[in-house]
Amino acid sequence: MACSLVWFKRDLRVHDHAPLAAAAAAGPVLGLYVIEPGLWAQPDMATQHYLFIRESVSALAQQFAALGGRLLVRGGEMTAVLERLHAELGIDALYSHEETGNDWTFARDRAVAAWCRRHGVHWQEFRQFGVVRRLQDRDEWRPAWEALMAQPPLPPPARLAAPLPPLIGHRWPDPAALGLTDPDPPLRQRGGRANAELVLTDFLNERVLSYRGGISSPLSAPTACSRLSAHLAYGLLSLREVVHAARLAMANASGPQAERQRRGLAAFVSRLYWHCHFIQKLESEPALEFRNLHRGYDGLREADWSAAHFAAWSAGRTGWPLVDACMAMLRATGWLNFRMRAMLVSVAAYPLWLHWREPGLFLARQFLDYEPGIHWSQLQMQSGTTGINTARVYNPVKQARDHDPQGRFVRHWLPALRRVPDSWLFEPWRMPPAVQAQCGVRVGEDIPEPPVELERATRVAKERLYALRRDPGVRAARAAVLERHGSRLRPAARRKAAARASGAQLELEF
Ligand SMILES: Cc1cc2nc3c(=O)[nH]c(=O)nc-3n(C[C@H](O)[C@H](O)[C@H](O)COP(=O)(O)OP(=O)(O)OC[C@H]3O[C@@H](n4cnc5c(N)ncnc54)[C@H](O)[C@@H]3O)c2cc1C
Repeated sequence: MACSLVWFKRDLRVHDHAPLAAAAAAGPVLGLYVIEPGLWAQPDMATQHYLFIRESVSALAQQFAALGGRLLVRGGEMTAVLERLHAELGIDALYSHEETGNDWTFARDRAVAAWCRRHGVHWQEFRQFGVVRRLQDRDEWRPAWEALMAQPPLPPPARLAAPLPPLIGHRWPDPAALGLTDPDPPLRQRGGRANAELVLTDFLNERVLSYRGGISSPLSAPTACSRLSAHLAYGLLSLREVVHAARLAMANASGPQAERQRRGLAAFVSRLYWHCHFIQKLESEPALEFRNLHRGYDGLREADWSAAHFAAWSAGRTGWPLVDACMAMLRATGWLNFRMRAMLVSVAAYPLWLHWREPGLFLARQFLDYEPGIHWSQLQMQSGTTGINTARVYNPVKQARDHDPQGRFVRHWLPALRRVPDSWLFEPWRMPPAVQAQCGVRVGEDIPEPPVELERATRVAKERLYALRRDPGVRAARAAVLERHGSRLRPAARRKAAARASGAQLELEF
């Protein structure tokens, strides 16, 4: 009995799922999730991604069953899985969402397209986000985003007619069997649509009140931010569902806090727009995962790679308290707020002068919400290699003074600092030996000594970057990058939008 196959990747839901709706309207449907060893062998994949997906697919399988359908989990490379299923069942058509993933998923999708052509199976792909495939003109992008978000989210199919032959599913292997040996952060968010819905409701009704003003400090951000990123990255909620829910909450806001709620929601919705704006960059230029968006920056840092700097930074042993505390939080939770992510990359890129690719792979594995399009664009932006963004250099000592003035955050994540007196907390490596003896914390033993002198190394790094920016050839090539990837908001509108989005704290990532 032939059927339609709905291939789930990073869209693990039955709500607002256009491929599922289209397949269900056409007849019997089989849902499929494939555990692909090739994907899990990639250097940007981690145990936490796998386990979050496993939790989410298990919940999805239950939803399928409740609708009378079946979600099959198989293991193997996608074309081999298709080959076998076609022999067992006969596949009429393949339905899925478009994916803007890493280089490996792009190649895999091309192989699937070739397989479908060879077997006469029609593969229909639907837009997952406000990303436009084969976009010709960046000016058309924003209206296309608005048009997609304006349509109402699709309800789940009323019923799924499952194909009847018994099919053998695959047991989820242990992460180690797929080569995933990194630890699962003990405090990471859990997968499953029900969890995603709870996070959304709680944010829109309560936590959004702290959004403006609360998202920059690592102390307040874990509750002030929406915490929807992982749920969006694996598609437990569609972006359109979230946009609609936020706009509805904005329309219904009432009572003494209504204005505050509306402003928080507006700032939040603007970030949902950025979400797609950044993924579009990778969609339009897949090579940005590997090479500089502006090729004029090639060679800037490559030859100076320092394994020791990378080791200190990634282990959270730089001696700069806020950097090390952020790494500790990341290891434990799989999440950090935007400003602290940007600060980590800035420290890697400027004083430590590391090319962005290895730090980017490391962070991709640390971030539960790893979304290649946002991630690689941000890595390049915070490293100054896009050529179109103002270089933003975050000083970790100033960031600590501004966003953790009492040192509560760093003392929480770095117990050794609990004994350091307040006056030395932001720069503990400067403690005189007598103070070290008094508080019982030895620099270089209990806490690391910074690998470079922060101010000097940052100044030298900026000079090197600015020298290149002034180069006439580099300046000339900037226009082409801007034309292809730049936001279409004019500078004044951009400043206004940023001010609206962030209140007093401008964090502009266009
Ligand atoms: C170096 C670096 C790497 C990053 N890598 C990722 C990544 O892999 N995946 C990811 O989802 N975000 C990434 N971000 C963006 C941002 O830090 C996270 O989206 C945010 O911290 C997630 O928490 P939240 O959902 O509570 O955010 P909220 O502030 O509540 O934002 C809501 C949603 O808007 C989107 N969003 C927010 N900020 C941005 C932004 N600056 N650019 C694009 N979209 C945004 C996300 O989908 C987020 O879930 C990165 C930022 C930096 C500086």
